[in-house]
Amino acid sequence: MTITKMILDVDTGIDDALALLYALKSENIRLEGITTVFGNVSVDQATTNTLRVIELVGAPYDIPVVKGTDRPLVREWGGPVTYIHGANGIGDYDLPDPTQNAVEEYAPDFIVRKVNESPGELTLVFVGRMTNLAIALAKDPSIASKVKRLVFMGGALRAPGNASAVAEANMAGDPEAAHRVFGSGMPMTMVGLDVTMQAILTPQHVERLKAMAAAVNARMVDFVEHILHFYFDAYQNNNGIYGAAMHDPLAVAVAIDPSLVTTEDHFVKVETLGRLSSGATLADLRNPPAITNCSVCVGVDSERFINQLIEVLAQ
Ligand code: CA
Repeated sequence: MTITKMILDVDTGIDDALALLYALKSENIRLEGITTVFGNVSVDQATTNTLRVIELVGAPYDIPVVKGTDRPLVREWGGPVTYIHGANGIGDYDLPDPTQNAVEEYAPDFIVRKVNESPGELTLVFVGRMTNLAIALAKDPSIASKVKRLVFMGGALRAPGNASAVAEANMAGDPEAAHRVFGSGMPMTMVGLDVTMQAILTPQHVERLKAMAAAVNARMVDFVEHILHFYFDAYQNNNGIYGAAMHDPLAVAVAIDPSLVTTEDHFVKVETLGRLSSGATLADLRNPPAITNCSVCVGVDSERFINQLIEVLAQ
């Protein structure tokens, strides 16, 4: 497998933390930078959590962490999602304060600069609101044709929503930003609820991770076990199962191994006006579309993905 050069955009809550750990530990990923955004938590908390998670495992090379925007393009931010991610976004786990700081650059500017420095080479993986990318596109629309691909966690084609009956949380959290990204012409892969809700991690998987992980990983495994059980409790309350969908880690995995999923090409539009449906990702499923803007994941080999996730985290 070739090495994927990646910018990862996170709103570091629990599944973002797992996606970060996966990207940091994967030998197939070179993180060119990590950008942060409001969402599960404030952008400041997301930035601090990101730095904490990097220091927990130790980055194998220098990775700039770049703070992004603190609110949606035009709407109010609804505040942190504490009932799923805890007051601090990482299940109230007490990780030490980071010793490193975010770099002195604004995330949308960083994205514009990095994409222009390496045209055709960078994969963007967005696992939060698309606000930083929408602002980057407003600053320099030409990056749409210079990005290798955008892989994002968000949306729902045939699956129901999770922020509302029809909308997924990252889309509902800034529909105007998503609308602009879908209209940009950037090659994009949607890793939405159609597949992430099939990628369920269970307590048995946590036990397997603990058995496989080397002793050098003890602190990381303790962290992962804690945040996952916090997440499982939230899932139990919301979905009636003691397990959790690996939304954000699946987007990272698909970015480096598209064979994990099956896709359909569609012309996807984002609802920005709906009173009940803001953030819904809509495609006309009646006829095969002649023009498409998005490759939508509709099937996933969840067992192979979960096995890969555990193997990478354990190594
Ligand atoms: Ca996220």
